[in-house]
Amino acid sequence: MRRINPSRFKVATRGTSRDINTRIVLNLVRAHQPISRADLARQMGVSRGAVSLIVNDLLAQRAIFEGATGETERGRKPTFLYIDSRRRAVVAADIRASETFLMLADLVGKPLTGVISFPTVSDPKQLIAKLAARIKRLIADHPEIDGCAGIGVVVPGMVEHSTMRVLHAPTLGWRNVDVREGLAAATGLPVQIENSGRACALAQMWALRGDLAMATGDLVFVSVSDGVGVGVIMNGEVLRGRHNIAGEFGHVPLSLDGPKCSCGAHGCWEAYISNRATLARYFGRAANTATLEDAKHRQFSVEDLITRARGSDAKAVAAIEATARYLGLGLASVINVLDPSRVYVGGEITLAWDLIEGTVRTALGERALTSAAAETEIRPVAAAEYPRLQGAAALVAAPAFAAPVVA
Ligand SMILES: [Zn+2]
Repeated sequence: MRRINPSRFKVATRGTSRDINTRIVLNLVRAHQPISRADLARQMGVSRGAVSLIVNDLLAQRAIFEGATGETERGRKPTFLYIDSRRRAVVAADIRASETFLMLADLVGKPLTGVISFPTVSDPKQLIAKLAARIKRLIADHPEIDGCAGIGVVVPGMVEHSTMRVLHAPTLGWRNVDVREGLAAATGLPVQIENSGRACALAQMWALRGDLAMATGDLVFVSVSDGVGVGVIMNGEVLRGRHNIAGEFGHVPLSLDGPKCSCGAHGCWEAYISNRATLARYFGRAANTATLEDAKHRQFSVEDLITRARGSDAKAVAAIEATARYLGLGLASVINVLDPSRVYVGGEITLAWDLIEGTVRTALGERALTSAAAETEIRPVAAAEYPRLQGAAALVAAPAFAAPVVA
C-alpha cells in the first residue's frame, strides 16, 4: 500500500487532539477503504492500540463499519474497515429565510436524490411540521434505501452546540428556537443542527481527500445567501467561542451608517453582500421584508440578476460589482483577523465568479495588511455543489467532526 509522506500532514502525537486524530483516521479510511487497523497504524505512525481506541469510537458512532475479511491467508485474518456508503442515507436540510432545501445523501455526502425546495414559513412549529412531512415523503419515495441514519439541518443562525438550540437567526427572526426536538419526534430520526457557515466549513474539511495538511489546517467558509454565514476552522477545530457566536463576520460593520441589517443594526457586512442586499441595490430600494417575500416566491433572484449582467444590463453589472467590492473588503477583515490558509466562498454569487473575481481581489488587496495576506487563496464553491446541503449531510455522515474537542 502507498505510504503517505508523514511530513504532508500532522500525524498523531501526544499533543495532537483526539478530535484531529479521529479526522485523520476517517480520512484514511475514506481514501483507502477497505483498510485494516494495522495499516492505519502504519500510515499514521502510531501504535495499534492508539488506532483501536479511535476506531472503536468511530464504530460506536457508526461512522465506519467492519467488513468481512478480504484475504484467506494462513494465520490471523485482518478485519477491514470501511465507510459504508451503500444504501444507507442521511437527510440533508438547508433552512434559509426564503426557501428550505432538502435532499438525500449517502454516508460520504454524495447526493442520492435531486434537491427539492419549498418556501420557508418563519413560524418554527409550522416549519417543523412541513419539513417533517416532506422528509417522510422523500424517504418513502426512495424504497431502495435501506435505512436513514439521521437528519442534518443547517440554519442561518447561531446554534448552541450542547443543546443545538437556535440562539439567534436574524433573517428568520428566531431567538431560542428548538427545531431538533420537534423534528426528531415527528420523524423518529436523530437530528443534528448546526450553523450553516460552520457546517459548510466542516463539509469542506471532510471532503479534503488527498489534502490532509489542509484538513488539519485553518480554513474559513463564507456562505452568502439571504444572509451571510461564516464558519471558521483553526488548527483543525471548529471555532465556536464562549457563547457560540465566534466567526459571525456577517454582523461586523463595514460602515456604521450603512444599510439596515437583518440583525437590526446598520452597516453590517451582510447588509452589503447578501443576496437580498445585491437585489435591493439593483432595484434601488432597501432590503426589507418585501425583498424576502420576492425571494420566497422566486420573483427575481440573484441568478436572474447575473443573467442580466451577462447580457447588457449595466445596472445589473453595477449591482454585482458593488457586491464584489464589499465582499473583497470584508474578506480582508477575515484574513487580517484569522490569517487562514484558504477561504471558501459559497452561494449563488459564485455563478458570477468570472465576472467578479478581479474586483474581489483588488478590494482584498487594498485592505490586506501584507502582500502575502492579499494573496490568500479564495476558492469559490459552485452553487451546483449545494455546499450547505453537503454541510448538513456531513453533520450526520461525519459525526466525529462535530464532536466537542477531547482534551
Ligand atoms: Zn447585522
